[in-house]
Amino acid sequence: MSGAAGTRAKQVTGGSFLIEDLGPHDIFTLEDLSGVQKEIERTTVEFAEKRILPQVAAIEQKDFSVTKGLLRRAGELGLMGIDVPEEYGGIAMDKVTSALIADNIAVCGSFSVAFSAHAGIGTLPLVWYGNAEQKKKYLAKLASGEWIASYALSEASSGSDAMNIRTQAKLSADGKHYVLNGEKMWISNAAIANLFTVFAKIDGEKFSAFLIEAGTPGLTVGPEEHKLGIRGSSTCPLSLTDCLVPVGNLLGEAGKGHHIAFNILNVGRYKLGAAAIGGSKIAFRNGVRYARERTAFSKPITSFGLVQEKIANCAAGIYAGESLVYRVVGAIDASLAELDENAPDFSQQTQKRIEEFVVECSILKVWCSEMLDRLVDDTLQLYGGYGYVEEFPAERSYRDSRINKIFEGTNEINRLIITGWLMKRAMQGRLALVPAIQRVMDEVIAGPSPREERTGALAAQYSLLADAKKLTLFCAGAASQKYGAALAEEQEVMGALADMIMEVLVLESCILRAEKMQGRSPLAVTMTRYYAARAFSIVKMSAERVIGAVAEGDILRTQMTIFRRLSKHDPENTVALGREIAAAMTEAGRYTL
Ligand SMILES: Cc1cc2nc3c(=O)[nH]c(=O)nc-3n(C[C@H](O)[C@H](O)[C@H](O)COP(=O)(O)OP(=O)(O)OC[C@H]3O[C@@H](n4cnc5c(N)ncnc54)[C@H](O)[C@@H]3O)c2cc1C
Repeated sequence: MSGAAGTRAKQVTGGSFLIEDLGPHDIFTLEDLSGVQKEIERTTVEFAEKRILPQVAAIEQKDFSVTKGLLRRAGELGLMGIDVPEEYGGIAMDKVTSALIADNIAVCGSFSVAFSAHAGIGTLPLVWYGNAEQKKKYLAKLASGEWIASYALSEASSGSDAMNIRTQAKLSADGKHYVLNGEKMWISNAAIANLFTVFAKIDGEKFSAFLIEAGTPGLTVGPEEHKLGIRGSSTCPLSLTDCLVPVGNLLGEAGKGHHIAFNILNVGRYKLGAAAIGGSKIAFRNGVRYARERTAFSKPITSFGLVQEKIANCAAGIYAGESLVYRVVGAIDASLAELDENAPDFSQQTQKRIEEFVVECSILKVWCSEMLDRLVDDTLQLYGGYGYVEEFPAERSYRDSRINKIFEGTNEINRLIITGWLMKRAMQGRLALVPAIQRVMDEVIAGPSPREERTGALAAQYSLLADAKKLTLFCAGAASQKYGAALAEEQEVMGALADMIMEVLVLESCILRAEKMQGRSPLAVTMTRYYAARAFSIVKMSAERVIGAVAEGDILRTQMTIFRRLSKHDPENTVALGREIAAAMTEAGRYTL
């Protein structure tokens, strides 16, 4: 892991952000990139600007020769081998580097999806679960972009409910092949892929993964779907009719395919978060540059407060997203850095370490995809009527954004994972959530206590964060008390708790990054103060939703007294802060710190 040298994050365990307070130098931020990481970032930016952007029209026309050519070029530049061991043609770098690539390559949604489907969920199953022979046969071709990979899990009747797939595999009479029958749906890269990871149940029971080469008799790629967005990416059904797959192409163990399917998705999720940040930056750049040039009522529209408000919302969203993504991926790297790369079980240990961050990976996926969705709406609005026509890029960004809330686990499924997984770990005693909840309960029952006195530009935000954590723990405790194990069935409450949990992590990431950058970037402080107001209002709204659902009568009154105590804060002047942010962004013509 050569690039990990720049990583300075403290070793933390997944979910601990709710109960532990970190300092600014305990987290990784973009400002900590190593020389190697910066170099790869520069290469990616140059590739995106000079190679991808000029080809957007051809990509959107589904000229797959262009997409394949670009993937090949990305392979030559080493951008597809980040997660591939050197002995198989990759460069085996850290996860921050792979997030940097996903972020900076995302200047075109269609290409970004093709890239991620190949380099992420397409290639990683083989890296983690392939045997030496399989890796030797395929990995170098995938890392170089000579071959394209695809991941085929979903079916017409099972997307979220992935364990319920119907595709069947049976061992042939001579024991040389598995015979696969079934249909897959929504498969990214299907039309251009050379290698598919296909999930099927052996004898209708053992959930397993198979490597199937394109052109294998019995494997047919169906027609392209006509999609709302990412139109230049390939999405097709697959049909498997008595498809003969050599037994040597069973990936991992029979009956353990669900580990492959779900572990890979964790990586897919943090990369999606990073790609959403990249998508936000390009949509924002286009929007701000347009707004700078556009006049109305004889003034540039950027002089209007409601336009500035949109610009400020977008910029603060990007700042918060960047802070979140690199903090989490940096923490994953810090955990992985402890492993021995030469150990025979290195792959299994890597997955285990990443699995530790299930909640954080889901948070990156949900929070960043929803930030991007708000941002493409705001930037389209900056264009007025021109935003609504194809000639301007806002329309494509708007359409392309939407898929991010659907694939890699819908945002509903991921919200359930966030709360459900934390609660499960707490019950198992693997995360000290229960004592933390108890401490908050004791504290609030004891009555008002003096707030910790902090000074500095972010004193008020630290106080918001402390109360956001307490409110979240308090609501989690109240909901567990009311429902016990049946909380999992109360999805709206689970969702509201997930929203609180997400905002705690985002707000803390913003504050710690700004603190770290103090002196170097006053804008980081301004954006933190601006975003904190939004984060805390979401926490408050969600807390009221939870309390309203779990309590009534005297208990409700008591809980609302506690709620009011924890949510009493003076408002920031977000109008003035927003104007300051908008002025800086307008001058720069892009997102800047
Ligand atoms: C463009 C595109 C590319 C894709 N690429 C791939 C790919 O490369 N490989 C692949 O395997 N798949 C791929 N998919 C499939 C994608 O992962 C699924 O569409 C997604 O997981 C949702 O499954 P579904 O469509 O069956 O919806 P459903 O699971 O039917 O969900 C419908 C709605 O119900 C909600 N819902 C479902 N279950 C629950 C629950 N338990 N609790 C609360 N709400 C629930 C969902 O959140 C959603 O809002 C792709 C899809 C698209 C559109």
